[in-house]
Amino acid sequence: MSLRALLLALSTRPRIGQAMDRVALTRRFVRRFVAGTTPEDAFAVLTSVCARGLSGAVTYLGENVHTPDEAARARDVYLHLLDEIARRRLPVVPSLKLTHLGLDLGEATCLDNLTKVLERGASNDTLVWIDMESSAGTDRTLDLYARVRPTFPNAACVVQAYLRRTERDVERLIDLGATIRLCKGAYQEPPGIAYPDKRDVDRAYERLMDRLLAPDALARGVYTGFATHDERLLARLRGVTQERRIARERFEVQMLYGIRPDLHERLLGQGLTVRVLVPFGEDWYGYFMRRLAERPANLTFLLETLVRPS
Ligand SMILES: Cc1cc2nc3c(=O)[nH]c(=O)nc-3n(C[C@H](O)[C@H](O)[C@H](O)COP(=O)(O)OP(=O)(O)OC[C@H]3O[C@@H](n4cnc5c(N)ncnc54)[C@H](O)[C@@H]3O)c2cc1C
Repeated sequence: MSLRALLLALSTRPRIGQAMDRVALTRRFVRRFVAGTTPEDAFAVLTSVCARGLSGAVTYLGENVHTPDEAARARDVYLHLLDEIARRRLPVVPSLKLTHLGLDLGEATCLDNLTKVLERGASNDTLVWIDMESSAGTDRTLDLYARVRPTFPNAACVVQAYLRRTERDVERLIDLGATIRLCKGAYQEPPGIAYPDKRDVDRAYERLMDRLLAPDALARGVYTGFATHDERLLARLRGVTQERRIARERFEVQMLYGIRPDLHERLLGQGLTVRVLVPFGEDWYGYFMRRLAERPANLTFLLETLVRPS
């Protein structure tokens, strides 16, 4: 088993997270990727992000809730975030997971919660980005998206380049004139479902980039957030958009808080919209382990933090 696969397998074991949470130094290391535990912690980071000319996205960490009450609590946090975004007049959008809003408890529960969040977003003229989780939920997530999108043009979705199915899904989303985030994909998936080789994932990302920026997709109103820290793909995005003379208002770059902040200035200098996604919440374990799995070198930093006196 590769280290990436091991870390991703561990990411689905919340009990390990509870044990890690008791080690204060782990929490300090987690702060590199997670703004803190409260909305105030997130807004402190988002305010400084936006002051630098960047746009923001905010995620209340959590997934796969077990009861309707937990799902309702997550919904209420997103409603509060939307109110605060409007009150503070920040260029920030929420980015949420459907399993946090109760997808595993039944579509009706999730749809009800999602609708309330989308209504609040629409009243504030704010997009609501719906994250993509493991392939167990891809169909349900895209079906729900297709259902709400005609009523809520402020609903945005995510596709993952590592899934073999994504090129088909993207055609469906282009027909909807969707607002889309293109990412590589962060979960452990079997090779029949996702490309196991990173080079194939990168090639798929390039093909999808081309498709999402094709004239017919743009004519249908497609807007894409290219979510990556991969300098080669970002250079390619610049090349393609310059060559095709695609206006900078038709796409954006998205990055995660704590990863490659050194690229922000350069991308802003190119006149691009750069959105930084800032997560917060107590339930940081799954998110954090996926960040470790993306770059196992992070594990070395974590271990150094644990053995070095502060
Ligand atoms: C805004 C945003 C939203 C996302 N939403 C989703 C989603 O809804 N569903 C989903 O499955 N995935 C999501 N992802 C995660 C994504 O799928 C990838 O796992 C992640 O972005 C790493 O891939 P990469 O494109 O940066 O390329 P990589 O090839 O993994 O990395 C390129 C370079 O970026 C840097 N880097 C990347 N990751 C890290 C890290 N963890 N720590 C330190 N440096 C790193 C390194 O310098 C690396 O060489 C999202 C990513 C972003 C940026």
